[in-house]
Amino acid sequence: MSLTVTPAAYDVVVIGGGPAGAAAATFLQRQGHRCVVLENTQFPRYHIGESLIPHTYGTLDRLGLLPKLRASHFPVKHSVRFVSPSGEESDPFYFSETIEGDGARTWQVLRSEFDVLCLEHARENGVEVRTQTQCQTVIFDEAGQACGVLAKPRGGEAEEISCRVVIDASGRSTVIGSQLDLKTDVAGLDKAAVWSYYRGAKRRPGIDAGETTVFMIQDRGWFWYIPLPNDMVSVGVVASPEYLFAEDSDFEAAYSREVAKCGPLQEMLTAATRDDRIHGLRRMAYRNRQTAGDGWVMIGDAAAFLDPIYSSGLFLALASAELAAGCIHDALVADDVSAQRLGGFTRPLWNGIEVIRRLIHAFYDPSFSFHKFVERYPEQRSALIDCLVGDVVEKDMSGFLEALAQMTPVPQPVTDTSPEIKV
Ligand SMILES: Cc1cc2nc3c(=O)[nH]c(=O)nc-3n(C[C@H](O)[C@H](O)[C@H](O)COP(=O)(O)OP(=O)(O)OC[C@H]3O[C@@H](n4cnc5c(N)ncnc54)[C@H](O)[C@@H]3O)c2cc1C
Repeated sequence: MSLTVTPAAYDVVVIGGGPAGAAAATFLQRQGHRCVVLENTQFPRYHIGESLIPHTYGTLDRLGLLPKLRASHFPVKHSVRFVSPSGEESDPFYFSETIEGDGARTWQVLRSEFDVLCLEHARENGVEVRTQTQCQTVIFDEAGQACGVLAKPRGGEAEEISCRVVIDASGRSTVIGSQLDLKTDVAGLDKAAVWSYYRGAKRRPGIDAGETTVFMIQDRGWFWYIPLPNDMVSVGVVASPEYLFAEDSDFEAAYSREVAKCGPLQEMLTAATRDDRIHGLRRMAYRNRQTAGDGWVMIGDAAAFLDPIYSSGLFLALASAELAAGCIHDALVADDVSAQRLGGFTRPLWNGIEVIRRLIHAFYDPSFSFHKFVERYPEQRSALIDCLVGDVVEKDMSGFLEALAQMTPVPQPVTDTSPEIKV
């Protein structure tokens, strides 16, 4: 008796049409793989996470998105500046200190527009995009290999879509992580955030107009101040939930109190009016114990989110999309979508994430000071800037991490247990 194997409807189903999903689908479709992106919402939709870091440049370039960004009205970001609770300002950290040319600048993006740009670009590259379509569950065969999804269009019937690889790019919804119970806390990173938007706030002159300003508050909390188009500024506060919600538990009260308390920020907001509701998250950090399996991978926030301090979220979303797309392409060509082959990207990615994680812990360590670190290890200043611009993946940062360990405790290790490719 001969068995007939029904071919999969798609090579790749991508859950989520955010930057990670759109980028991965674009790379794979271009290499000749049939991709469909399922996006729950109707774009444009609101999203937090507006500040890019320079090391997104390479991926944006390879995607072909740079001309669209250059033509956009997004403020250009050349630097980051830190302001102490008393108003003492650091010199701006200009990215041009370590990066030559065009890649030394990046953008502050309005996500409702940036995400449309990425998803439309995927469509222009031949990707099928179904918006208002929710992936309800990932389907696994008897051997435990992902082989499709159950997708429900708004107002329609749920439908099974078969494929050879499922990419989970569902952001904080973490579709596979929730389904397989892989999601866990990140020890020592338990920050909350509350944020809103102002119109008419102050901008700095010249090339500093688009900088990110970080206003430090007590208890190692901080504000981001991110200039956006249309005279808007994104202003958010990050701190421990115990500190932020000690006096009252609602977002509105915590936000108003902290904005009123931060003198240097008040100075920037003198002539501004708040132009949106207050948004918040009580606990931001999480990760999955495994980020690739037979027939599936997780990328971007679907895999992990640590902390917004270094604005690394979009960089990691795009970098993981590109690295994963490389492994998925090889796996499809070799007709081997095992976890070992698909997960080949997880080790270099997590090595890079580990550097960022160590630096996040350092930032929140009250006894640590970047100033003193650079004073004691001047040879590590450029490595520090590499971290701030996102240049940490597939790079030897061991000297930097050893120096860091001399000045701040090494946090508990975090491991991704995805099987690695065997060569
Ligand atoms: C407070 C805060 C501040 C931040 N600031 C920054 C910053 O300044 N810079 C930065 O780079 N990053 C920042 N980030 C992180 C950034 O927002 C994320 O890293 C980034 O959006 C991840 O992109 P993504 O494509 O992985 O996920 P997302 O952009 O979240 O996209 C996921 C998509 O999946 C869709 N989806 C979800 N579930 C389903 C489903 N079941 N079926 C179909 N579709 C689904 C969603 O609708 C969404 O469109 C911040 C995060 C927080 C919490």
